[in-house]
Amino acid sequence: MKNPEAQGDVSLSQGIRMMFYVMKPNETSFQTLEEVPDYVKQATPFFISLMLLELVVSWISKGKPPGRLDDALTSISAGVLSQLPRLFFRSIELTSYIYIWENYRLIILPWDSPWTWYLTFLGVDLGYYWFHRMAHEVNIMWAAHQTHHSSEDYNLSTALRQSSFQIYTSWIFYSPLALFVPPSVYAVHLQFNLLYQFWIHTEVIDNLGPLELILNTPSHHRVHHGRNRYCIDKNYAGTLIIWDRIFGTFEPEDKKVIYGLTHPINTFDPLKVQFHHLAYMWTTFWATPGVFNKFSVIFKGPGWGPGKPRLGLSEEIPEVTGEEVPYSSSAPYLLKIYAVVQFAVMLVFYEETFANKAALTQLTLLLRVCFFILTLTSIGFLLDQRPKAAVVEASRCLVFLMLCRFGHLKPLIPFLSFAFEIFFSICIAFWGVRSMKQLASGLWK
Ligand SMILES: [Zn+2]
Ligand SMILES: [Zn+2]
Repeated sequence: MKNPEAQGDVSLSQGIRMMFYVMKPNETSFQTLEEVPDYVKQATPFFISLMLLELVVSWISKGKPPGRLDDALTSISAGVLSQLPRLFFRSIELTSYIYIWENYRLIILPWDSPWTWYLTFLGVDLGYYWFHRMAHEVNIMWAAHQTHHSSEDYNLSTALRQSSFQIYTSWIFYSPLALFVPPSVYAVHLQFNLLYQFWIHTEVIDNLGPLELILNTPSHHRVHHGRNRYCIDKNYAGTLIIWDRIFGTFEPEDKKVIYGLTHPINTFDPLKVQFHHLAYMWTTFWATPGVFNKFSVIFKGPGWGPGKPRLGLSEEIPEVTGEEVPYSSSAPYLLKIYAVVQFAVMLVFYEETFANKAALTQLTLLLRVCFFILTLTSIGFLLDQRPKAAVVEASRCLVFLMLCRFGHLKPLIPFLSFAFEIFFSICIAFWGVRSMKQLASGLWK
């Protein structure tokens, strides 16, 4: 029997409600995995609408935007990077789950029972709590998760700042569910659990009264993103805060929260945002003497060192004063507008690539992915005002024209092909001249 309400596309009402996990079992229960909508992909217009709403509310209530352009661009860049593997593979969170379900399941819970739906809601949320806690307490997992914490602002764009390789460990924590919950039910809740966590990344919602007792709220999650000592390793919840209350990691919001990593990375380079801690771990691993200590560098907390407790020493966490100045781009205003335009052009191609991926060859997909990564890197270099930003940007514009010429990128409106050719040729000339001047002045050394 198929669910009569099963549909590929979500309605406006469902779209709004799914951002807050206000969904009914009978409208989100599916017999097969193939019927489960890609809710996360369909959430893009709701992400954008809520971010615009946050911008308006922040302007009205505080007289300023909720964050900074450079930081928001870097967060969305991380979101784009984290989604790119989905063009080639089904996520490991689903693949591993299906493998366990097909080979080791103990019982089969009915896919169309509300009880299965509610049990899976709790199971996925509990799995998320433990995954998230371990992502903070085990250094190799933190190397992935730290990306999400690297923003020094706290707004809805921060929610999109996701790691590219976090899913390679998160699947472990959901796998017990595969012993009895059908993959189609799990796939629904995995998406809603993620979507719920979008709206809590905001400062425009203060306190939600009695809801604070049960739900993970903006207030609770602000604490989680804080680098004040009282905030460290607290409030790991996904949807329900009850897990933190049960397992002793709950902390209410108190003093002004200063956001970001305890040691800020001070860059908008998207690849550094993803991989800098892995590089740091590599150095620490080789510099630490003894096999057991090397093992501990990987599996104990990020603050651990020889002779210290598993999670490091609280007094080694730098004290915050409340006067911290977040790292900002020194790029001129016009250059930031240029970065936004290039970013927007890339986003249109990114969306189109996901929409038409079945019709594209593997070569085209691969070339497009390389172009997206190059674009994000170049924008990061421009925002960071790196000496080689000009030559990277000139090369990127050239790559764009080549991809269009050989049919690997096609503007949606044919008329735009010509406009793009003119615009990108001007960009190549501008950045090319700039990089020649820099080369002549020895700035690259
Ligand atoms: Zn976290
Ligand atoms: Zn968060």
